[in-house]
Amino acid sequence: MPIDGLKIIQAVMESSRIRESKGIIPIFGVYVSLFFVQYYNRLSFQYEKLLGEKGAAQAAAYLTEAAQECGYATFHGVRNSWEWQEIVQPMIEKPEDQILGFTAMAEAFGWGALQIQKIVPYVELRLRVHDSYEATGYQQVYGRAPSGKCYMLRGVTGAFMDLLYGDDYPDGCFSFKAEEIRCRAKGDAFCEFWARKNDAGHP
Ligand SMILES: [Zn+2]
Repeated sequence: MPIDGLKIIQAVMESSRIRESKGIIPIFGVYVSLFFVQYYNRLSFQYEKLLGEKGAAQAAAYLTEAAQECGYATFHGVRNSWEWQEIVQPMIEKPEDQILGFTAMAEAFGWGALQIQKIVPYVELRLRVHDSYEATGYQQVYGRAPSGKCYMLRGVTGAFMDLLYGDDYPDGCFSFKAEEIRCRAKGDAFCEFWARKNDAGHP
């Protein structure tokens, strides 16, 4: 049975109506909350700007690593939830189908329309995103970017591969490393992320 992304998105949307008193949403084994995209973008991009031209690459690396670690823990929780076991697991025929489950979840979280371009098990993942909120947010404030700006999605692309082909949780994080090879913020038609084995073994 192929992965029915719409079914997953619907399940997430329905479950997200349940809110705890502080606004926390318990869903698919993890806790999420509504967050202002512009606020998140401002924090990321101002941090990068504060470090200046010399520190920009380091800022980008830190923001990507933070996203990869967060994505690794979050999607580990998701795939161990009873909702995943009940809704997604029956549709999975081969290990890499899990990534289709992850991308449907990510769409439901509002991260953009994620399209898998290529998966080679244990080797690489190419993910295309058409409406990354980071690219939109960067352009709105700063205009055309000199380099890719979607650190969250970049880190998460690496995390998806870590979860499938890295060592068992929690030792597999940063087994892969992703680059953003195209970004709408720098004038490309879409953003594209490419995760490959991280031979350095650390972020
Ligand atoms: Zn981008």
